[in-house]
Amino acid sequence: MSYSILVVDDSWESREVISSILNTQEEYNLVMAENGQDAMGKLNAQPFDLVITDISMPVMDGLELLDHLILEMPNIPVITFTGFGDLFGVKALERGAEDCIFKPFDARDFKLRIAKALKYSRLKKYQDRLELKNEELRMLSVTDQLTQVYNRHFMHDALKREFARAKRYCVNLSCLMIDIDHFKEVNDSYGHLQGDSVLREFAALIRNTCREVDLCCRFGGEEFLVILPETDRSGAECVSDRLRNLAEKMSVFRVDSAELIKDLKISISIGIAYYPDPRIRTDHDLIALADQALLMAKEHGRNCVMVA
Ligand code: GH3
Ligand code: MG
Ligand code: MG
Repeated sequence: MSYSILVVDDSWESREVISSILNTQEEYNLVMAENGQDAMGKLNAQPFDLVITDISMPVMDGLELLDHLILEMPNIPVITFTGFGDLFGVKALERGAEDCIFKPFDARDFKLRIAKALKYSRLKKYQDRLELKNEELRMLSVTDQLTQVYNRHFMHDALKREFARAKRYCVNLSCLMIDIDHFKEVNDSYGHLQGDSVLREFAALIRNTCREVDLCCRFGGEEFLVILPETDRSGAECVSDRLRNLAEKMSVFRVDSAELIKDLKISISIGIAYYPDPRIRTDHDLIALADQALLMAKEHGRNCVMVA
């Protein structure tokens, strides 16, 4: 493993001393800068694992450089060094430096402190990567693979949470059960891959039409459940009408050639249930009523919205 270290000092003698101490480590690639401004130029040109900087320098001093780094490149640890007593050292630590070393250096101590900072930085990067991976895994576990909206597992948890909140704080909560009409015909006429593509396009349409706080979930097959927090009956009807209109106008493109399929149009039926409603005591009642309303919409001839 190799490390890029930027050494910032206006005195060439000092740079020589540091370089002679650290050059004994083959894995360290040292780059020299004469002041904070010179250092910023080099930091913008290539990635570094560590910055070691003098504090008192012309043009831009070490504390100002430190401020820039904390703001602009917070992942690069900074070690300051100074010949001006402990006050500067404490100041540097308070402003975010990893460590402060006093001149004149003890070579062994200096090397050890650099190695420690690099070890900490490596662990921190590893931890950050792990957190990112965990977040990716968490998103995967709640996402429907085909349509990229929330999956059914997440839907049940979210609805439970939103229902408890609506009940506790006496706020409105609506949900829409949406089903694509005669979807089997799409598969039968254009194939399942084209059907999958329609499902993806339609899921994106719901996501783009609803608010960020609304939760769009794939209930299963060609059915979607949209949870609308703090939304009453008229709000839910408004969203539903908009979705129904947009679905009718939705363009569908061929999966293989991206060409528009003029004859392929879809329509949707929507069942709405909303809370508060004396028939609804649990989150399951909300889904059941939305489902009943969807059935009514289908019986009513499809391509329409019905309220439970
Ligand atoms: P209705 O208007 O009554 O809802 O008619 P429909 O044809 O949409 O309903 P039906 O329940 O008879 O058929 C649903 C179809 O959805 C059948 C099934 O093959 C299709 N389907 C379910 N999941 C998927 C999927 O992941 N991909 C594709 N391509 N099709 C799916
Ligand atoms: Mg269905
Ligand atoms: Mg259907």
